[in-house]
Amino acid sequence: MFGCYSGGVPTLSDMQEKLRRPLELELAQGCQNRAVSGGMERLLDNFARPFPKVREALRGYGDLTVVAREAALRSALAALAPTSRPAPTAPTRVENRPALPPESDGAPLAPGTELSRVNFGPGAVKKFTALGLHTLRDLLHEYPRRHEDRRALPSLAQVEDGQKVTVEGVIVSKHRRTPRPGMLILEVTLENAWGERVKCTWFNQAWVEKGLRDGARLIVSGRAKRFGRSVQVAVEHMESLSGGAGGESLSSGRIIGVYDARDGISQEFVRRAVQVALTRVPIGDYLTPRWRAQYGLTDLPDALWGMHFPHDEAHLERATRRLKFDEYLFLELRVLLQGEDAVLFGKRFGATDADMQTFEAGLPFAFTNAQRRVLYEIADDMRAERQMARLLQGDVGSGKTAVAACALFLAWRDAYQGALMAPTEILARQHYASLTGYLGPHGVRVGLLIGALGQKAKAEVQRQIADGELDVVVGTQALIQEGVSWHNLGLAVVDEEHRFGVMQRRKLLAGRPDVLVMSATPIPRSLALTSYGDLELSVIDELPPGRTPIQTKLIQDTARRQSYGFVMRQIREGRQAYVVTALIEESETLELLAATQLADDLRVLLPEARVGLLHGRMSAQEKDDVMEVFRRREFDVLVSTTVIEVGVDVPNATVMVIENAERFGLSQLHQLRGRVGRGSNQSYCILVAGEHSQKTRKRLKIIEDSTDGFVIAEADLKLRGHGELRGTRQSGLDELRLGDLGSDLEIIEQARALAKYLLHHDPTLSHPGLAYLKSELQARSSQVAYREVI
Ligand code: ADP
Ligand code: MG
Repeated sequence: MFGCYSGGVPTLSDMQEKLRRPLELELAQGCQNRAVSGGMERLLDNFARPFPKVREALRGYGDLTVVAREAALRSALAALAPTSRPAPTAPTRVENRPALPPESDGAPLAPGTELSRVNFGPGAVKKFTALGLHTLRDLLHEYPRRHEDRRALPSLAQVEDGQKVTVEGVIVSKHRRTPRPGMLILEVTLENAWGERVKCTWFNQAWVEKGLRDGARLIVSGRAKRFGRSVQVAVEHMESLSGGAGGESLSSGRIIGVYDARDGISQEFVRRAVQVALTRVPIGDYLTPRWRAQYGLTDLPDALWGMHFPHDEAHLERATRRLKFDEYLFLELRVLLQGEDAVLFGKRFGATDADMQTFEAGLPFAFTNAQRRVLYEIADDMRAERQMARLLQGDVGSGKTAVAACALFLAWRDAYQGALMAPTEILARQHYASLTGYLGPHGVRVGLLIGALGQKAKAEVQRQIADGELDVVVGTQALIQEGVSWHNLGLAVVDEEHRFGVMQRRKLLAGRPDVLVMSATPIPRSLALTSYGDLELSVIDELPPGRTPIQTKLIQDTARRQSYGFVMRQIREGRQAYVVTALIEESETLELLAATQLADDLRVLLPEARVGLLHGRMSAQEKDDVMEVFRRREFDVLVSTTVIEVGVDVPNATVMVIENAERFGLSQLHQLRGRVGRGSNQSYCILVAGEHSQKTRKRLKIIEDSTDGFVIAEADLKLRGHGELRGTRQSGLDELRLGDLGSDLEIIEQARALAKYLLHHDPTLSHPGLAYLKSELQARSSQVAYREVI
C-alpha cells in the first residue's frame, strides 16, 4: 500500500501535495537541481500537467542561476494552493560546489600531510590504516568503487519491475515472517519524503533487524518488484543515517560514492573524511590549462569533487574521464621512463627502399600490404638515430619471420651483425632453417648457436661471432650468455618476448642494437599500449593470400566418440593430430595425470594410431625431442598439456582436439588452434565442451566463428576484463582503478601522446613547471612498488 496512489485515481489535492514536497526540498537544498533524479523538469511531465502556472514558472529550470531558480521555485509554490506551512528559506551556498555541511573549516593542509596529524575523531587512524591510507593525498585518490543515485525518485509510481532503485525513508513498521522452517523474511516499510511507502525485504539475514528502530532513517537499494501499484525492494545494500534531515546528509539526496567496504568502517566515515580532505587541501593541477583544453579535460579540483560528490551525471562523467586520463598518463610516463634505454641512441642504418626491393625480389612471393606497411615502420626506426624498440605483432603464419628476415638483411647491408633469439631450441632450429632460406642466397652467413651443439662446436660459433665471420646468428638464451661477444651487433630480433622477460632483453641490449620483438599473441591495442608501453607497435593484421581457413567445431561431451572417429579418418589419410587435455591450473601433477589418462584412453579408442605424450614436467630438451619425433611422423597423435602453445611447425598435423575447452581463455584457444593449418591440407579444430553455461557457450562461439586473433583478443578483453588476462605482462595494470582497457583505447592514445611529448621535451621532467606532475608520478610509483624511475 502506498500513499495516495493506493487505490484508483489521485485527487487534485493529492497531486498538489506530491508536487509541493519536492519543490520545498529543492529549495531547502539550495536550488542545486538535485532534489529530483534527472532534474526538476522531470516533475513537470509527471505531475504538473494540471498546474499550468507551475509548469510556466519552472520551465528551463536546469539552465537558471541559483538566484533565478529560487525565484522560480517560490513562484511555483505560490501557484499551488496555499498551505498552512511556510516555505523553508534557502540557505546561501557557493555555486558549483555540492552543498555540504560546513563542519570542515580550518587551516589549509598540504596533500602530503599524514592522516594521523588531522583530527578525524576517535579511532580514525586505525581505520585509515586498515584501508591502506596514509596521507590526505591518498584519501583524495581513494575513489569510490561505484556510485549510487540517491536523489529522490520523481515517484515510486514510475519504478519498473526489476529496476535497481534506491529509496530513502523513515521506518514506519517492521515484522518478520517464517514462511517455512529455515527461511526468515524481514519486512520493513519505509515512508519516503513524498509520503509514499515501500516494503523492503531481507532474506535470512536475522542480524539486520538489530539496528532497525521505528522512526530511524534508512537508505536502501536493491531490485524493485512491482505488485500492481505497490513496490517491494529486495535489499542489497543498506545504510542507516545518523539522524538529522536527509537532505543535508553526505549519504543521501545526491549521487553518492560507495567505497570499498571494511568491517567496522562506515561509508559515512569515509565520506566525511574525504570531504574534509577536499575542503582543506588546496588542490592545484599538474596539467596546465593548455593540456586540459587540448584533451577536453576538466581541472583536478572539479574532477576530485566530481568523483566523490558529483552534482549530477555530467559532473561524474567529466570527473571520471579526467581521472582516468591521469591514470593512463602516469602509467605511460612510468613505462616510458622504465624503458629509458629505448629512447637513447642506437644504430643508424641506411635501410633504403632499394635494399627492401632487392630482398623482396628474392622471395617466392610478394609481401602483403600489411607486411609492407610494418616494414616501412621498421625501416623508419632503423634509419633514425634512436634505438629501435618495436613490438611486431601478428597471428601465427602472418609472415612475421619474413619481415624480420628483411630487417636483418637491411642491417647486413650496412655491415652490421644480426641476432634472432628464440625461446626453445626447436624453434631456434626452425628459424635457422627459414633464415638460411631467406638470406643465404644473398650471401649472408647465417649461424646457429644452441646448447645441443656440444662444447667444441659452440666455442667455434662463438669465435666466428666475435671475429665477424657470421652475419646473422640464430639461437636460444645461449646467445646472451657469457662467452658471446659480438663483433658488431646492429639488430636483435627477439621471438615471443614474454617468455624471456625484460631483464634478459636488456642483457642482449648491452651493445645497444636496435631491437625488434616478435609476438604471435595478438593482444588488443589498448593492452599493448599499456602493458608493452615501452615498445612501439607494428601490427600485421592480414594473412598471406591462399590460406584455407581452419574449420572449427564446438561439440558436446556426448559427441566425443564421433569426433575421435573423425580424427581416425584423418590419420588413415596420412595426417596427424594434436589432442590437448583439460587445463588444470592449480596443479601440474593433476594436469599430468589427466594427460596420461587421456593418452591411455586414446590408445584404446584408436587402436590403429600411435600415441605420444608431451607435458610440462619434461625438460626443455625432452619436449624438443618429442616434438621432433612427431614432426618426423613417427607417431600420429600427440596428447599434450598446454605446453605446445609455442610456435612449432608440423605442417602434416591437420586436427586439433581441445578437451574441456570451456576452461581455456579465448586467446589461449586461438593460440592452440594455430598449431594446425600450417600446411596445404584443410585443417580442423574440435572444441569439446564439458559442463558449461549459456555464457560459456557464447564465449566459445566466438572462436568457432572467427579466425582473426585480434577480433578474438578484443572480445576476450571485453568479456573478462583485463584483470583476468593471462600470458601478458601485468605490471602497472593492477593500479588501474578507473581504467578499463576494454573501452578506453581513445583515452589511452591521448594520454600516451602527452606522456611522449612531455618526455621528449624534458626527459627527466626537471622543468620547474613540471614539479607537481613529477611529485605525483613519484607518489603513484611508490604505491605500485615500482623501482625508482627518476
Ligand atoms: P609467422 O612468423 O608470422 O608465423 P612466417 O613468416 O613464418 O609467419 O610465414 C608463414 C608462412 O607463410 C611461411 O611459409 C612463409 O614462407 C609464408 N609467407 C610469408 N609471407 C608471405 C606472403 N606475403 N605471401 C605468401 N606466403 C607468405
Ligand atoms: Mg614464425
